[in-house]
Amino acid sequence: MKAQPAESSGGSSDRLLRASSALADIGLDALLLGPSADLRYLTGYSPMPLERLILAVVFPEGEAHLIVPELESPGAEAATAGSIELIRWKDGADPYELVGKILRKISRVAVGDRLWTSHVLALQRQIPSAEMVPATELMGGLRSIKDPDELDALDRAARAADRTFELIRGQVFTGRTERDLGAELARMLVEQGHDRADFTIVGAGPNSASPHHEPISWRIAPYDVVVMDFGGELEGYFSDITRTVVVEDEPAGFRQMYEVVSAAQEAAFQAIKPGTRAQEVDRAARAVIGEAGWADGFVHRTGHGIGLELHEAPYIVEGNGTPLAPGMTFSLEPGIYLPGRFGVRIEDIVVVTEDGARRLNASDRSLYVVH
Ligand code: ZN
Ligand code: ZN
Ligand code: ZN
Repeated sequence: MKAQPAESSGGSSDRLLRASSALADIGLDALLLGPSADLRYLTGYSPMPLERLILAVVFPEGEAHLIVPELESPGAEAATAGSIELIRWKDGADPYELVGKILRKISRVAVGDRLWTSHVLALQRQIPSAEMVPATELMGGLRSIKDPDELDALDRAARAADRTFELIRGQVFTGRTERDLGAELARMLVEQGHDRADFTIVGAGPNSASPHHEPISWRIAPYDVVVMDFGGELEGYFSDITRTVVVEDEPAGFRQMYEVVSAAQEAAFQAIKPGTRAQEVDRAARAVIGEAGWADGFVHRTGHGIGLELHEAPYIVEGNGTPLAPGMTFSLEPGIYLPGRFGVRIEDIVVVTEDGARRLNASDRSLYVVH
């Protein structure tokens, strides 16, 4: 069965057709996707990944099938709404053999990044002569350009994260633990409109120099620098913001470092326009930090795409020559970390526009003093 034309723009069927033509363009014979953001993007269906095979098989000519266990088919039917043909299998049957029959004549197939190895190995035995290649670029290319509905969800998630920061900075920090603040942030993320909190990094004092620090029982005191990086999920789309504050007063030498990171973030923002390569944005941030003498302290890439996943294409990193295009959304999050002392990171989500970029996060980026 051919995928049906979408009822509204941006509908799943429309996306299936775009995936089909992308397959045709690069000369692949099929695309295989298990439960993942990729599957959700194409079909609207987002089941839990399990040992029972759930697999979308998309062909270049627009034909698409969804292999589902019988017990999952009511959910699959409701979510996909006729946009893709369901093929059901019952416990005791061999679903891989079923897929093998559908894939009989293919020679090159793209496999989704999140398909479990147990499934991939079983599929490989069915099509031993076929070459399997990653679907990373194909799906990243489709998903990186957001449609208006996706931008709306990302916008609302970003604003809920902004409000969360504005609320947390009004609270008392002194005497509280990182873990306590992390739990408070998680609660606020939901209160402000997220369906769930996804992560809360709170690094205080020397822990602020560890970019992905897990909140611990560190008790916050005056002169601590506190890096807070948090986000949640709203209708499937993520927020992700980092703000760095100081408690009562800044430790010696901190303000200059903060200003450099802030200038680096702004330089990255100014570097964005359609056609600019992703790595140029990373270079713009890195140049500012390098000139200030802190190149060694900027230990990670400048940013990552965001959408149905917290980290997705395009990655804002040296070596990524992807040209930016309107509708792409990603983070700008330069940082400097001095082990044993303190760190700073400032992160906003931005969207590429026709002539530059727009920040989705609007909350204050100047150095804020908490109590
Ligand atoms: Zn991170
Ligand atoms: Zn973050
Ligand atoms: Zn991030």
